Formats: sequence, C-alpha cells, structure tokens
Amino acid sequence: MDTHAYPVTRTDAEWRARLTPEQYAVMRNHGTERPGSCALLYEKRAGTFFCVGCDQPLFESKLKFESGTGWPSFNDPLPGSVENTVDRSYGMVRTECHCSRCGSHLGHVFEDGPPPTGLRYCINGVALRFEPLA
Ligand SMILES: [Zn+2]
Repeated sequence: MDTHAYPVTRTDAEWRARLTPEQYAVMRNHGTERPGSCALLYEKRAGTFFCVGCDQPLFESKLKFESGTGWPSFNDPLPGSVENTVDRSYGMVRTECHCSRCGSHLGHVFEDGPPPTGLRYCINGVALRFEPLA
C-alpha cells in the first residue's frame, strides 16, 4: 500500500467495524466485486454517490451511464474527490482510483468512455452509498 497521508485515516479494526466484509475486501484489499452483483447498477434516479468509507460525495448520477460491463460506471468524479494511481497487479497496467479523503479503493479508470472526457470510471458498487435528490 502507499504511505500517502489522507485526511481521514482509520485503524484496521476501525475499518472492519465500519465496513461489511465485502466492502472491506474491495476498499481496503483492492478486491473486485462480482459483476452485476450490485444493486446500484440499476439505480436510475438523480442523486449523489458517497464513499462508504468516509461519506465524501464522489459522483453524481447524471454522469453515470450504462457501460454494459456489469459494474456501475461514471464519466467523471466530482472535482478533487477521486485520485488515481497506476496499478500493475495481475500482469496488467491499469489506472486504479481511490477516494481522496480516506484512500479507500473504488475501482479503475479506462479510456474508452463516452465524450466529453472519454474516461470511464468503473466503480465497485459496494464502495458507494446512493442518496437520491430530495
Ligand atoms: Zn472515502
């Protein structure tokens, strides 16, 4: 793991208490949830997606699109909310993305998204909490 200091830090025990085992596996151990397993994939309402690790708003649903990959996909995060690192695991070079506030792993970024950015943020739904617009 990196040694970057995040505004929100927790001990391993605190993370385990806050997150479900599945969330912990994805967010703290860089796991990947089963494609199509996330209910947020079918979330079509307007609203905001928050990091379950620290409640920072990460994405807005107007930027979400159906990528057909089985994971919730977004065009762009909210400014400053998501940071990227190069992930060389599994013999591939991918761009990993994580929450800028607590450092929790969220998913990966690919450069095959729709305009205007051409980016596709492929996010593990368990890392997100959705709140519809009131
Ligand atoms: Zn976070």
